[in-house]
Amino acid sequence: MTEVVLDAVNKVYPDGFHAVRDVSLRVPDGELFVLLGPSGCGKSTLLRMVAGLEEITSGDLWLGGKYANHLQPRERDVAMVFQNGALYPHRDVRGNISFPLEIAKDDSPASHERIVELSRALGIEETLDRSPSTLSGGQRQRVAMGRALIREPGIFLMDEPLSNLDAGLRTELRMEIGALVHTLGVTTLYVTHDQTEALTLADRLAIMRRGVLQDVGTPQQVYDDPATMFVAAFLSAPPINLFKTGLWADQEEGIILGLGNQRLVLPWTDPRSPSLVSHHGKYITVGVRADALRPAADGLIAGRVRALEFHGSEWLAYAEAGLPHVDAEAPYENEPAWTSPEQRPGAGQGVLRRLLRTAGILA
Ligand code: ATP
Repeated sequence: MTEVVLDAVNKVYPDGFHAVRDVSLRVPDGELFVLLGPSGCGKSTLLRMVAGLEEITSGDLWLGGKYANHLQPRERDVAMVFQNGALYPHRDVRGNISFPLEIAKDDSPASHERIVELSRALGIEETLDRSPSTLSGGQRQRVAMGRALIREPGIFLMDEPLSNLDAGLRTELRMEIGALVHTLGVTTLYVTHDQTEALTLADRLAIMRRGVLQDVGTPQQVYDDPATMFVAAFLSAPPINLFKTGLWADQEEGIILGLGNQRLVLPWTDPRSPSLVSHHGKYITVGVRADALRPAADGLIAGRVRALEFHGSEWLAYAEAGLPHVDAEAPYENEPAWTSPEQRPGAGQGVLRRLLRTAGILA
């Protein structure tokens, strides 16, 4: 069992900067856990505390059930890959991957066999005799992963391992990392600022902001039911629409939201309704993602399309709707019916239905 447990962990740097605040997390054995957040939110600091590269100011860390606050990095059974998987330039690929084995004085046939197996799993078997200078960026990162995994660590830490690669390679390697760590069953903490990477790769993820954990859950949980507006916004590309609306609780109808001049009714049978009663008579913020909006001629939110963007499988419409910040995404098949941006309607009837079904209601 190599679970990772953090309990009320804090990091205050010597200059007084409080980079990580009261973070508590439990990552079970074999899970691929992603730490996601904007630059400077403290995710690398957190990872480095797990690795033993940064001292923990207060709070407790357990690795595989062992109290780990004061363990040296080499005593932690962790291996780490950084953004720039730096390799030893004078060793060939095999020599790079086998380096940790040499340090451990492990020259067994089994370990040599493992080099071949691992390089096969990483798709770099053909490069074993080559020098790092002859490798592509993606191959170099694969070698760095091989070197980290050769001694079968209990915990695998990765800090933005794909950020220096081009988009195509990132997608390819992302899938391979997911498959590899699940095959190996190694508990993995993976840091990224890229929400797509996080959502596609994670078994579960945590979203951080200014040193504080905002939300933890499976990709679907945090996307569909974000704990805060920051999480909703951070996980939305294009940006989520945030409507400030009045809220009334009506005994018969349910929860009534005022959207512009329109009414949106959440019946009492809607699971979100009971929790909204306490906001009766107040303004709340409703978050609606662009993909929950569709254009329609007699739409309930009237708007004028300011710009259209072609995204391959769909068009994205930026609309002004007399409400703050409305981006409506139109499916591709609707495009031929529209002849000019001026003729395009705002978001439509579908909005209400989809709003009821898919919108995150953020009180
Ligand atoms: P990035 O993706 O840009 O690396 P991050 O979320 O990983 O961001 P950290 O590198 O953990 O963020 O840094 C968190 C905050 O702590 C930043 O504001 C950073 O400037 C600050 N910080 C990092 N190292 C130190 C240090 N040694 N002394 C003081 N402040 C530091």
